[in-house]
Amino acid sequence: MLREEVYNFAAGPSVLPESVLKRAQAELLNCRGTGMSVMEMSHRSAAFQEIFDEAKAALRKALNVPESHEVLLLQGGATLQFAAIPMNLMGGGAADYAVTGHFSRRASAEAAKYGSVRIACDSSDTGFDRIPAQAELHTSADAAYFYYCANNTVYGTEWQYVPETDAPLVCDMSSDILSRPVDVSRFGLIYAGAQKNMAPAGLTVLLLDKSLAGRAQPFTPEVMRYDVLLRHDSMLNTPPCWNIYMLLLVLEWLEEQGGVAGMEELRTERAGLVYALLDESRFYTAHARPGSRSGMNVAFRTPSAELDALFVQEAAAQGLIGLKGHKAAGGLRASLYNAMPLEGARKLAAFMKEFEVKHRV
Ligand SMILES: *Cc1c(COP(=O)(O)O)cnc(C)c1O
Repeated sequence: MLREEVYNFAAGPSVLPESVLKRAQAELLNCRGTGMSVMEMSHRSAAFQEIFDEAKAALRKALNVPESHEVLLLQGGATLQFAAIPMNLMGGGAADYAVTGHFSRRASAEAAKYGSVRIACDSSDTGFDRIPAQAELHTSADAAYFYYCANNTVYGTEWQYVPETDAPLVCDMSSDILSRPVDVSRFGLIYAGAQKNMAPAGLTVLLLDKSLAGRAQPFTPEVMRYDVLLRHDSMLNTPPCWNIYMLLLVLEWLEEQGGVAGMEELRTERAGLVYALLDESRFYTAHARPGSRSGMNVAFRTPSAELDALFVQEAAAQGLIGLKGHKAAGGLRASLYNAMPLEGARKLAAFMKEFEVKHRV
C-alpha cells in the first residue's frame, strides 16, 4: 500500500505527523550541518546537547512545566517506571493505586513487590468500562503517593478530572499526554512512554517534582534512581538520542498546530465523530460509559466476535489499519492520537456506517 492510502489506528507505536517524518528524512544523513546523522552523534557533543536542551525546553513550553519540576528523558518504557516509582517514592511504606485498566493493574502488581499497595478503586468488576468518581476513591492517610493512569489505552476510558488527594499524585499519561492541558504543578510525577503521542518507541518522559527525589530505597539500581538521573540531567548513561530528536520535531509540529489547546480541540472533534456514530448505532456497542470516554482510544464492538474479525479485515482492505482490540479486552479499538488527521476519523466513521448497513440483520 502507499502511505497516502493508509490511516494507522494502532494503539502504539502509532502514527506520527507526516511532516515530521519528512523533515527527519531530509535531515537523516546530515543534521544541522554537522555532516552526520543524529543517530551517529555522541550524546556528549555540543550538537546533541543543543537538540536535547531544545527538546526539554519545547516540552516545558507545551505543558507549561513549572520550575519545581524537571524534565527527564529516559529509556525503559512506561513499564520500567512501574518498578522505578515504588522504588523511588514508596520508601518501603504504602501507596494508593487507582486500578482502572490494564496498565494501572500491572503497575499496582509491580509496586506490591516494594511496599503495601492500597487499592483506591478498582473498576474491573464492570470490565473497566468507567472511571470512578472522586467520592468513590479510598485514600489512606499514610500513602506516600496516589497513583493513577490518566487514559486507559486498552479499555478506552479516561479520567475527566484530576483526583484530590493529600499524597502527591503520580500519573501515567502515556496515551494522552500533550492532547489536553494539564496543571503540572498538581502532580508529584507525570510520566509517559513516548510511542503514543510523542515520538518513536524507546523514550520515556518524566515530569518530576524535584522535591520528591532522594527517597529511593537503597537497592534501587543507579539507572532508575531519580536523584541520580536529575544530577546527571538524564545522561547517567546514553539517552535515546534519536527519539529525543524526534520528540523535538513533534513538539515543533505541535506548536504550529496551536499547541496542546489545539490538540484538545482536534481530539474532541475527531473522537466525537466516532462516538456520535456509536451512539446512533444499534449495531455497535461502545465499551466506555458516557462520562468516562477516552478522547484518544475508542473501544467498541460489533454484535459478534466473527463480525469484529471481519471488520478488521475489511477495514484493512480500505487502508484503515490497526483496529483490532487489545487481547485483554477483545473487540475493536480505534486509537486517535494527536497525529491522526481529522480526515482519518471521517474515513473510519464512513467505513463503520457502511459496514453496519451491510451486516446488520
Ligand atoms: C503503552 C502503555 C504503557 C506501556 O508502555 P511501554 O513503553 O511499552 O512500557 C503503559 N501505560 C499506558 C497507559 C500505555 O498506554
